[in-house]
Amino acid sequence: MKAEIVATGTELLLGETLNTSAHYLTGKLSSLGIEVDYHTTVGDNLERLEQVLRQAIGRTDLLVTTGGLGPTVDDMTKELVAKVLDLKMELDASSLEQIKQFFGRRKAPMPSSNEKQAYFPKDSKILPNPIGTAPGAIIEKNGKTVIILPGPPFEMRPMFDNYVWPELQRIIEPQAERMKERVLKVFGMGESAIEEVLGELMSLPDITMALLAKRAEMHIRLVARSSATTSGEALDRVEGEIRRRLGDKVFGRDQETMIGIVGQTLINKHLTIATAESCTGGLLGAAFTQEPGSSEFYLGGVVSYSNSVKREILGVSEENLKQFGAVSEEVAKEMAEGVRSKIGSELAVSTTGIAGPDGGSDQKPVGLVYIGIATPEGVHAKKFQFYGERESVRQLTVQAALNEVRLHMLKNERRL
Ligand code: ATP
Ligand code: MG
Repeated sequence: MKAEIVATGTELLLGETLNTSAHYLTGKLSSLGIEVDYHTTVGDNLERLEQVLRQAIGRTDLLVTTGGLGPTVDDMTKELVAKVLDLKMELDASSLEQIKQFFGRRKAPMPSSNEKQAYFPKDSKILPNPIGTAPGAIIEKNGKTVIILPGPPFEMRPMFDNYVWPELQRIIEPQAERMKERVLKVFGMGESAIEEVLGELMSLPDITMALLAKRAEMHIRLVARSSATTSGEALDRVEGEIRRRLGDKVFGRDQETMIGIVGQTLINKHLTIATAESCTGGLLGAAFTQEPGSSEFYLGGVVSYSNSVKREILGVSEENLKQFGAVSEEVAKEMAEGVRSKIGSELAVSTTGIAGPDGGSDQKPVGLVYIGIATPEGVHAKKFQFYGERESVRQLTVQAALNEVRLHMLKNERRL
């Protein structure tokens, strides 16, 4: 089933109000397996709104509108939907009664202009609005469904959740075909590299694949369109093939997060970890403690921003600091080793780098980062070159450090 959302309201086109309703509704429709093809925003202008509604009704199965249900002359959504569907407007006595009661509760007479809010295209199913004066409506004609909702999000959302959601379930139930979705999460590979490795998998007939760049991660979104069981099997098959091709670059799927995976693996292996941070200034420790239960594996860390703290607390050698500089493989290794022995954890991870915008040079440009990993078997450090602003270099460093811990644990598993 294909859907389209039309949001009305001049304020949405003036940059005053963000169209949060389209976002909300799209999430809801998608979770029902309804594909949203278009979002349109149109001002409170009769000609343009009519044109947009005509086009939408012409090309979609389900149209959801928001706004334009008010009592004023520029609130014309219902009237124009009726015109486009060739339906008459009819008074709904019970809506009129409720609008009167709404004003009654406020001890105010109902302005005659509000009477308009009780008129609906013929045969509408009326959606009550306990919060405001504008009821909504569902209209079905010629196999098309139009859902008319009020503009204020705090009226629109409960109306959608309480009345539209169950109706939609009824409408889509008979259609056996449902979309099934799966997201594979990749770290350390760009869009074009993934595309190259996945090749023909990107254009399978029964599975749509899309790549989405999410900060440090790439997400591969798979959507299968067929009956529930066969789409599950198809997704399993394609997921298996993607994992075979991308190997340990795939770190998780669906709701899984990098820190979630790393934390869970540490817990499963009964390992503890400590951090020594320079350029991330505590962000890595914050990441490790983000989720409840982190005390099972995270012992603590040292924010060793200055050379003196690196030297005095972590035992980084003066020679290495002088010879290689604070941003170097040697110092990253010493930091990790130092915090590991100081805190007494099995693993330790360190970060040292040039977050920018200043402090870069030809040999050591902004974005250069070393990440050290100390383990009972020894210590190693890896060089990274990130791009972007200070905050993004720092965030990327955190993600890369978590990924290094993950990769270390994966490799050790294989060796066993
Ligand atoms: P009424 O409130 O009388 O039913 P209406 O349905 O056209 O009329 P508006 O008065 O246009 O609603 O909008 C009410 C409030 O809701 C305004 O503050 C507006 O900015 C906000 N609003 C309208 N549409 C959206 C939207 N798509 N996303 C977020 N906010 C919206
Ligand atoms: Mg409006």
